[in-house]
Amino acid sequence: MIDATALPALHASHGGIWLREGGNTQAVAKGAAIACAAETPTLLLNAPLTGQRLGYPELNGLDLLELWAFVHPARFLVPTPKGLAESLGLERPGSEADIPQLLQAATAALLDILGSPAWAERDGGWTSAQTLLRLRWPWAPLVTPRINRPPEAERWLFSRLPEWEETPPRPAPRTISLDEDAVLARLAHLTGSAAEARPGQRAYAAAAVESFRPRQHRDQPNMLLAEAGTGIGKTLGYLAPASLWASEAQGTVWISTYTKALQRQLDRESLRLFPDPATAARRVVVRKGRENYLCLLNLEDALQGGFSGRAAILAQLVARWAAFSKDGDMVGGDLPGWLPTLFRRNGSTALTDRRGECIYAGCPHYRKCFIERSARASADADIVIANHALVMINAARGRETGQRPQRIIFDEGHHLFDAADSTFSVALSGQEAIELRRWVMGPEGNSRGRRRGLAARLSDLASYDAEGGEAIRAAADAARALPADEWLKRIVAGEPFGPLEQLLAAVRGTVYARAADVGEADAGYGLETEVAEPDGPLVEAAQEAALALDALLRPLNRLGKRMEAVIEDAPDWLDGAARARIEGAIASLGWRRDLIAAWLALLARIGGPADADFVDWMTVDRIEGREYDIGIHRHWLDPTRPLAEAVLKPAQGVLVTSATLKGGGDWDNAESRSGASHLPRGAQRFEAASPFDYPGRAEVLIVTDIKRGDIAALSGAYGRLIEAAGGGTLGLFTAIRRLRAVHARIADRLARAGLPLYAQHVDPMDTGTLIDIFRDDPRASLLGTDALRDGVDVPGHSLRLVVMEGVPWSKPTVLHAARRLAGGGAAYDDRLIRARLAQAFGRLIRRAEDRGSFVILSAAMPSRLLSAFPPGTPIRRVTLDEAIIAVSAHSRAGHGHGMSLGQQEDESGTHDLEQR
Ligand code: SF4
Repeated sequence: MIDATALPALHASHGGIWLREGGNTQAVAKGAAIACAAETPTLLLNAPLTGQRLGYPELNGLDLLELWAFVHPARFLVPTPKGLAESLGLERPGSEADIPQLLQAATAALLDILGSPAWAERDGGWTSAQTLLRLRWPWAPLVTPRINRPPEAERWLFSRLPEWEETPPRPAPRTISLDEDAVLARLAHLTGSAAEARPGQRAYAAAAVESFRPRQHRDQPNMLLAEAGTGIGKTLGYLAPASLWASEAQGTVWISTYTKALQRQLDRESLRLFPDPATAARRVVVRKGRENYLCLLNLEDALQGGFSGRAAILAQLVARWAAFSKDGDMVGGDLPGWLPTLFRRNGSTALTDRRGECIYAGCPHYRKCFIERSARASADADIVIANHALVMINAARGRETGQRPQRIIFDEGHHLFDAADSTFSVALSGQEAIELRRWVMGPEGNSRGRRRGLAARLSDLASYDAEGGEAIRAAADAARALPADEWLKRIVAGEPFGPLEQLLAAVRGTVYARAADVGEADAGYGLETEVAEPDGPLVEAAQEAALALDALLRPLNRLGKRMEAVIEDAPDWLDGAARARIEGAIASLGWRRDLIAAWLALLARIGGPADADFVDWMTVDRIEGREYDIGIHRHWLDPTRPLAEAVLKPAQGVLVTSATLKGGGDWDNAESRSGASHLPRGAQRFEAASPFDYPGRAEVLIVTDIKRGDIAALSGAYGRLIEAAGGGTLGLFTAIRRLRAVHARIADRLARAGLPLYAQHVDPMDTGTLIDIFRDDPRASLLGTDALRDGVDVPGHSLRLVVMEGVPWSKPTVLHAARRLAGGGAAYDDRLIRARLAQAFGRLIRRAEDRGSFVILSAAMPSRLLSAFPPGTPIRRVTLDEAIIAVSAHSRAGHGHGMSLGQQEDESGTHDLEQR
């Protein structure tokens, strides 16, 4: 057996490179490290990250993260040396030079588990290791000898997963009114006797009762807008009435979030409602879009030769995980977010059902399918935790009519506008159009995989119904007009093929002729221009494309009718499975028909009259100058109009809540951005200020001596501020380009001072993992863009400084210009900026004991925007030197005051169980 501690081990960071060989660890140069890894199997942690630090992205080796994923699939791990040491009960490395030795010890510990009778995830391990050996997984020679062959053959993943049960549809909820005293009693029960009385939270819970009253008027849900400052404890404030209503009315409450972080937090809170985990899992269900879940049929295809090389190894590790996963959620669930990035995302997306190819009851795994299981579980649940997009799609498409959300709580309600904006938008782009072609035609040329076209998916219908068969053939013929593989290459070479490619070529020509880069800071990224005054060739191309799309829509309409007729005829072969499959096909066909109809409306605009309700524009999408898509886009000028029609008006009760619902502005802002202003009777309002001591625990520093556009000065400011705070800094940028430039200039220097710096768009890791690492290490700092502005919930000492690179002005896009014009010009901009500032500031103080500084590097921050910050928060305009003194003093004052994770008081308004 190979001795793990005899293997060389390598660690590389921005602070240096250390190699351990023959019992000695020494600092080495990049070349020596790469040579060692190329010659001998070398232990390392996170190969893509190590490779990036060495400037050698192809680096391979014995990656401990892969070993972890094999030994403990579905178990959380912060993928850092510290995280690994803590998870395995090993001593934390004192310095970076100690890390290679830790990697050896961790390898030995993980391999030892394989031989232990207490190994919890043994099931399937032997079979999987044998397959991985054949696939030449570098760890396999170390793993296989340590796993004893089981006396009986191990059950194959697909036979060990549980089956869901079909249940009768749930009756409509009873009509009841909640008693306020009962709600408050439930709140007291949920918060626990040790939690202090919180008047704000009690008032909040009492106000939330409004959303659970019986509805009085048509098209008018009982709607409450509730702004509750951080620390009010709104989560339990609404869970109290929601759970009481669910049990008394026998109905389902949908709680919708914008970020995965809040979804996870709510899932954890479910244990307060139902302390027995099995009951909690039944009564509280997390639902996401189907593209998040593992598709077992895709996995089976990958395991049986559909994937090769590294992707095949990933498929094996995903299969290990699937056997132990709580719900099969691959994105933000219990699949480690870092796992797909170890394989350079090679293959992971092909394992989900991203393209709507599901064959429903025709699938051999239908009864075990994670997606179907979660959809069924949510029908019977008390609480469904979902996201804004899914709630809107469910309400709008009404596919699962029985599951149309009726009582909805939109937490993070300040994002409703953006979520509605993307849900109700349309894009006719090359990528979208080729997806449609593949959906109709299936694989063409050399493409592999199990993708099937309409003809294969509906072969039984075609052989039974001649007209249906003819419609399928006609649709396949018409789909040839859509873009095919290599469409972008042909367009760039001036050789578009077919009417849709011709259209995209004309769009591209117009965009390049007219557009300026969207903001100088993003040069090399998106290019766009309005759909206005189109020239002759573009109008002609649009007309030709519309004819081609119409020729596709007609047979699809015929096919839809034939499928409905077959369901009605109910021929002998239409057993339960075939019926479910055809019903599934009707739903996905309906959605494609809507898409094509929306494209046709958009094309009619080119050369036709503009529609004042919409904003239309054309784009060439690029990353660092490299084109990847071309398209025409249509967004609602006011997306809360379809939101009100499709989601709010049909609902019985809606609560929209957030810490920043008014966005640092007034109630008009909250009403216009939530859709309440489109309801006949509007919405009720509730407001509770944060109980936190912002004047005593936070400060806003506006640094006035950093010149805009001076990258050297900007980088220097970031570096010095992070040093002054001793890490624990969240740096926010509005442009990726500047983020990268700053990171490149300061990461090495900070690392040498023991202050690791991570960055979105730089480090090869998903955002969730970066936040986990940041949270876990109080000396780490994180740079990111907009997504981090309110997706980060890092309480305690790990986040004590937020630095914004400047005033977060909106990008001068076509869409923004149109909304600005309609929304009052500069006042519209101010509302947006105040909301962004309020959200970013909100990252700083998550618990009563937190303290920190909020720094904006801006010589010209308008005073009118400062109302974004909580009343009483000290705001000073200072030089960088003064800011550094202040940050350092504030940070020292905070040190030692941050509570440990187990002791924190959380946003739900109670204390963690450890303290109780
Ligand atoms: S039912 Fe659909 S999504 Fe589920 S495993 Fe089968 S093909 Fe995949």
